Amino acid sequence: MTASPVVTRIAPSPTGYMHIGTARTALFNWLFARGRGGKFLLRIEDTDRERSTPEATEAILKGMTWLGLDWDGDVVSQFERADRHAEVANEMLAKGMAYKCFSTQDEIQAFRDAASAEKRSTLFLSPWRDADPADYPDAPYVVRLKAPRDGATVIHDQVQGDVTIRNDQLDDMVLLRSDGTPTYMLAVVVDDYDMGITHVIRGDDHLTNAARQIQIYTNMGWDLPVYAHIPLIFGPDGKKLSKRHGATGVDEYQAMGYPAAGMRNYLARLGWAHGDDEFFTDAQAMEWFGLDGIGKSPSRFDFKKLANICG
Ligand code: GLU
Repeated sequence: MTASPVVTRIAPSPTGYMHIGTARTALFNWLFARGRGGKFLLRIEDTDRERSTPEATEAILKGMTWLGLDWDGDVVSQFERADRHAEVANEMLAKGMAYKCFSTQDEIQAFRDAASAEKRSTLFLSPWRDADPADYPDAPYVVRLKAPRDGATVIHDQVQGDVTIRNDQLDDMVLLRSDGTPTYMLAVVVDDYDMGITHVIRGDDHLTNAARQIQIYTNMGWDLPVYAHIPLIFGPDGKKLSKRHGATGVDEYQAMGYPAAGMRNYLARLGWAHGDDEFFTDAQAMEWFGLDGIGKSPSRFDFKKLANICG
């Protein structure tokens, strides 16, 4: 645990409706911060211009407001911070922690095809990794992190335990694309650092991303946040919760007249438990909620239970 005041965040990508899973992650972050006198921040990860829409941002803000998950300060737009992301990438470039890679998509694909035909690792290692910057051509490039090739990166996760990823299984991630825009991996780290995030509580579909993100923190000499990767929410059939199972949009529950307090109560218990307590107030949830109460296995969304709690 860190001694500094707790700062958490929710960082949804505005690419569709607000999923129940996003609401549950937001709720956990909100409870954790509010129960510790900390701050809970909202960042819209709108870096992907093709997939992000203003309607989806609106749906997130509306969903959060309806659920009563109030955030501190202004909503942060990741897209608007692109210059800052590039600044960090260029700092790593200047310090030799990153390099310009001039390999084209076609070259990379040809390498992968040949490697898979020969049953070799398809992990692309750029020939530009050790090039002398004096030899850089005047051509489009991406900026890649010069990631360690030896040893391992360990994620000390509060839910999953220590997760070790061998460095030779990770390629040199792209930090800036050829048009100079930042990748998701870079943007998340720079934003979390600048926003003073102490605890990153998010879905475990981001667990392996954490290894890459740790490599960026380490290069920059920045303190790591505490990580807690929560198992995803599954449907009653044990498959990842989706529209097939029924209503998965926060707006749908609002439209059906479900009370927000009942939703909070039910969502709090999806993957977290406080003994056998089924009903509790926000104040109790804030007092009781902790990362040690989060289970390691996926929770199952039970439409009937939700209706009972809200009924
Ligand atoms: N934008 C990511 C998502 O919507 C979340 C990133 C994060 O929490 O680090 O899945």
